[in-house]
Amino acid sequence: MPGIALVTGANKGIGLEIVRQLAATKWQVFLTGRSPASVREAASSLSQSVTPVVLDVTSPSSIEAAVKTVSGVVDHLDVLINNAGVLEEDDSPIFTLPSAQLLRMLDTNTIAPLLVTQAFLPLLRNSASARIINLSSGAGQLTDMGTWAPAYSISKTALNGVTGQLAAALKDSNIAVNAVCPGWVKTEMGGREAPRSVEEGADSIVWLATAAPQRMTGQFIRDRTPIPW
Ligand code: NDP
Repeated sequence: MPGIALVTGANKGIGLEIVRQLAATKWQVFLTGRSPASVREAASSLSQSVTPVVLDVTSPSSIEAAVKTVSGVVDHLDVLINNAGVLEEDDSPIFTLPSAQLLRMLDTNTIAPLLVTQAFLPLLRNSASARIINLSSGAGQLTDMGTWAPAYSISKTALNGVTGQLAAALKDSNIAVNAVCPGWVKTEMGGREAPRSVEEGADSIVWLATAAPQRMTGQFIRDRTPIPW
């Protein structure tokens, strides 16, 4: 049955594709992003069940305003997808990694998903069965840790920690919490060489949002299958 979802960083890339797929199956979707013009433009190409909302995930006042806007339209949320993320092209090697760069990645990729989740939790608790999905990355997988993009990778490892903590804290509730690696996807972040299309990248996320067993929680998912943390 179609539900109500909110997707962060959804003006382009994997986030926009998630919104497109959900809206195509009659979900009511809040398409959020930090630029008012880009969320309006992205939503205008989709169905009327898509509502653009400005949300800069690194700004507490923007999060507060978005909660107010969404609460004025619906009394619950079934799915929250923390998709917004950043990767800096010149991500420094670990030996010279500036703390400021690590802090920037942690701010958007780790702390922001936690703050957005905290803010929307009351609306998620009003759902009969809700799901929180965090866009992580194989780059953050401890069991397969390499040297690529240390700041980004560490921020995704920490996001996995946030996912595990939330899943454990919500285990007796009706809210499932999982992290997803979409694979290497052709987007502005993934680049043109990436083997996966946005449709393929969005697949596990839309499956977790709409069709995965509700009891599946506290997992790291790739291709609809749990993988090691
Ligand atoms: P894109 O760069 O195409 O899109 C990233 C989105 O995040 C944009 O909409 C961007 O907005 C938004 N964003 C960044 N900072 C903020 C902010 N402060 N507030 C709100 N929105 C923000 O990336 P992808 O679609 O490829 O990535 C989506 C997610 O998937 C990310 O979390 C990424 O880490 C993850 N991922 C991607 C992979 C890939 O191969 N593409 C692989 C593994 C994980 P704006 O347009 O304003 O910059």
